[in-house]
Amino acid sequence: MGRVLQPFEYFEPTTLDEAQKLAAGNGAQYIAGGCELVLGMRRGTARPQRVVSLSRIAGLDGFSCHPKIGLDVGAQVLLRVLANDIWVAKRWAALHEAIDQLHPPHIANMGTLVGNLCCATPYYDIPTALMALRAELTLTGPKGERQVAIEDFYTGPGATAVTAPEVVTKLTTPPPDANAASAFRKIYRTRRRHDDLHKINAAAYVTLDTESDVVTDATVVIGSWDFKPVRIAAAESAVTGAPATTESYVKAASIAVDAMEPLTDVAWIEDVRAQHARVLVRDVLEQAASRARSKYDPAEDLDTIEG
Ligand SMILES: Cc1cc2nc3c(=O)[nH]c(=O)nc-3n(C[C@H](O)[C@H](O)[C@H](O)COP(=O)(O)OP(=O)(O)OC[C@H]3O[C@@H](n4cnc5c(N)ncnc54)[C@H](O)[C@@H]3O)c2cc1C
Repeated sequence: MGRVLQPFEYFEPTTLDEAQKLAAGNGAQYIAGGCELVLGMRRGTARPQRVVSLSRIAGLDGFSCHPKIGLDVGAQVLLRVLANDIWVAKRWAALHEAIDQLHPPHIANMGTLVGNLCCATPYYDIPTALMALRAELTLTGPKGERQVAIEDFYTGPGATAVTAPEVVTKLTTPPPDANAASAFRKIYRTRRRHDDLHKINAAAYVTLDTESDVVTDATVVIGSWDFKPVRIAAAESAVTGAPATTESYVKAASIAVDAMEPLTDVAWIEDVRAQHARVLVRDVLEQAASRARSKYDPAEDLDTIEG
């Protein structure tokens, strides 16, 4: 790894306007926690001439999580803040699990949630969880704000819908339905190499009719497979309306695997990836449904906790 950084200008603006003016020219890049950008600069893969910090801009530190209102995360909010939040753990379990499985875990102390998404790294975990949770990003530019669903945020390998000098100011997700829950799992390594890019992850969001124990809505996402996490519509349709049983999840997982195009022409790698995907999809559906089946509504505790 190169240890000498190329010379660059560094700014710490205090308003979004100021930041966007500074970032308007070529060669400028925002920095939040710096986990990714500084690593890239040290490796020489990122060579910004101007680095504009988002850390002192007022209004980007908002964080709220309410099981009946939703999740709202500003651009400065560290992954650690979400990891420590009881409501994220209970009602946005897929996101909690994705953060909990970060490798190495201390990345959560410095990295922001929004920064993770802006990296547009295909094998990251947080985007998969947030796609299952139907998240939306707010992009703020000189002409105002616009909302982009996470499914539309990734526009190509390493590319996002952000147009410089826009800033992703926050991420929101709707509150989960009362009888819904989510889950996330990953398999870290498929090939035993330190630079393994072939890990695979999956997340699901499941709503149940708890009287009949039938799945009434489902989101199934596989990540680390394409340039962005992919919702598997065929698997979602297969499980929606089906009894909430292992048999239904196994069938949906099989359909999901059939929908996966091979990424390489190496048969054994694709075979292992398919086997992993099959296990992960079945597992996240089962786990999400099992959580949804629990009649416990954490929102009932809210007054006690807030009081
Ligand atoms: C060693 C290591 C291991 C990791 N392991 C995992 C893992 O297991 N799973 C996983 O999911 N992730 C993993 N990550 C990713 C990690 O979560 C992200 O690097 C981190 O969250 C990025 O946030 P940051 O605030 O540090 O971003 P920065 O490094 O500050 O920025 C990253 C990029 O996003 C842009 N950017 C940041 N914020 C904004 C914004 N608000 N608007 C517009 N552009 C913005 C920056 O210009 C830059 O290009 C790992 C990272 C590292 C370095």
